[in-house]
Amino acid sequence: TGEAELSEETKTREKKSIKATCGLVFVTSEASPYLKTGGLGDVCGSLPIALAARGYRVMVVMPRYLNGSPSDKKFSNAVDTEKRSKIYCFGGVQEVGFFHEYRAGVDWVFVDHVSFRRPGTPYGDIYGAFGDNQFRFTLLCYAACEAPLVLPLGGFTYGENCLFIANDWHAGLVPVLLAAKYRPCGVYKDARSIIVIHNIAHQGVEPASTYHNFGLPPGWYKALEWIFPNWARTHALDPGEAVNVLKAAIVTADRIVTVSEGYSWEITTPEGGYGLHELLSGRKWVLTGITNGIDTNEWNPASDIHIHSHYSVHDLSGKLQCKMALQKELGLPIRPDCPLIGFIGRLDYQKGVDIILSAIPDLMQDDVQFVMLGSGEKQYEDWMRHSESIYIDKFRGWVGFNVPISHKITAGCDILVMPSRFEPCGLNQLYAMKYGTVPVVHCTGGLRDTVKNFNPYANKGSGEGTGWTFSPLTTDSLLATLRIATGTYKDYKSSWEGLMKRGMERDSSWDNAATQYEEVFEWAFIDPP
Ligand code: ADP
Repeated sequence: TGEAELSEETKTREKKSIKATCGLVFVTSEASPYLKTGGLGDVCGSLPIALAARGYRVMVVMPRYLNGSPSDKKFSNAVDTEKRSKIYCFGGVQEVGFFHEYRAGVDWVFVDHVSFRRPGTPYGDIYGAFGDNQFRFTLLCYAACEAPLVLPLGGFTYGENCLFIANDWHAGLVPVLLAAKYRPCGVYKDARSIIVIHNIAHQGVEPASTYHNFGLPPGWYKALEWIFPNWARTHALDPGEAVNVLKAAIVTADRIVTVSEGYSWEITTPEGGYGLHELLSGRKWVLTGITNGIDTNEWNPASDIHIHSHYSVHDLSGKLQCKMALQKELGLPIRPDCPLIGFIGRLDYQKGVDIILSAIPDLMQDDVQFVMLGSGEKQYEDWMRHSESIYIDKFRGWVGFNVPISHKITAGCDILVMPSRFEPCGLNQLYAMKYGTVPVVHCTGGLRDTVKNFNPYANKGSGEGTGWTFSPLTTDSLLATLRIATGTYKDYKSSWEGLMKRGMERDSSWDNAATQYEEVFEWAFIDPP
């Protein structure tokens, strides 16, 4: 009908005007390749590039972390813009600087402050989480709000017409600052904000008495106030009451995005919401799940700079070369026929490392090899080192965070195991499938959304599926599923090849996700809540 045509046309016009006039400002605590400790770094390193390629003007704002070592060259291509901003918070005034690099169509902006210059990860060091993280990420958020106004990137500022994409609690103050500090002064009147939740387990919770640190007007306390449930009482907080930055972002952002559809539902349940499920249920009409894509330039077995041999779905021979090179490098017996199982990830409760630990004694009775790469809780790191000496010909544990090794394991293994308790999206299973490595995953969150369970009978016997999803999360069910997988590997070669090829052909590029993000952007402007 004429009416329908008109509304389509209107939509197209709106789309064009958002692209032409609105700058996207990603705010994040990490972005690959500058700094990455997990999936957040991957996403904020690649989604902005995909959006810039679609015609947006895109800026990413993150801290300029320096560890003090002369070999620390992460930000060596970034130049000092010589712009400084004064930030009023924590009862005083702080000055931040801005460094800038234009790369892959994106303005990468690095916030410089003494509190970002210290050894360790962005969040802590060997002694635990930094005690001043609330301060450091408050600075990041203020700086990110200032950057579009003060930085003449490529000759002109982004200006006020921006869409802020705040990632996780570290950036969660951005929507609050827009609403509480800027809009009342007539700045950013038409700007919008989205909070992207990569992991709801981390919320930026501090004692209620720290509210004044944020430099917000007293009337905004309610936005941050969090009456926390019993489990949170183990933190040494004011009894029953705290400030929660992620909660504030959820109530003030125009839209909420999570990194998979499954996770967007899970966080509205008491089991998955970490105390925020009711709030999220109440805003579920502005909540969208968008499954992450992957950077197919970095993660492509046909061109990966870290792996021994290149291969593709049309010629898989290089994968076997990668496997043997990995076995050699690890000092394992070089056995092309022996199923090689891998694990890559943080060594913590979320990733289900305890389930692997309890399965290993049984699994090591089988004709398999197992390699783990990870860092995290000391008990697991010690266990990995110790297990190497018990299962000399079968087990290797690589303690540390090492991107080249993660590529080698992804390419060289036959199976990648992910027994995560919860998994907002999970990237390793996406990388594994791209590399013809068959994932065996707990049926949760993004793992359930992305790994299609193997069915050998489907499609008139030619099979369907890209891996195995198991449930419940127990040692027995992990073991049983791994044994089905290794049995298939050994005895059903053509089924295995089908699994590998379907995984490699799966479209995990950012294209799909970027289109969905665009829809959320448009929705944020056209139809504010
Ligand atoms: P999360 O963000 O919860 O840690 P994801 O699966 O979303 O989990 O992303 C983890 C990212 O970090 C992946 O790119 C993975 O390869 C990488 N990674 C995790 N642990 C290590 C490690 N020890 N060494 C190298 N890369 C790692």
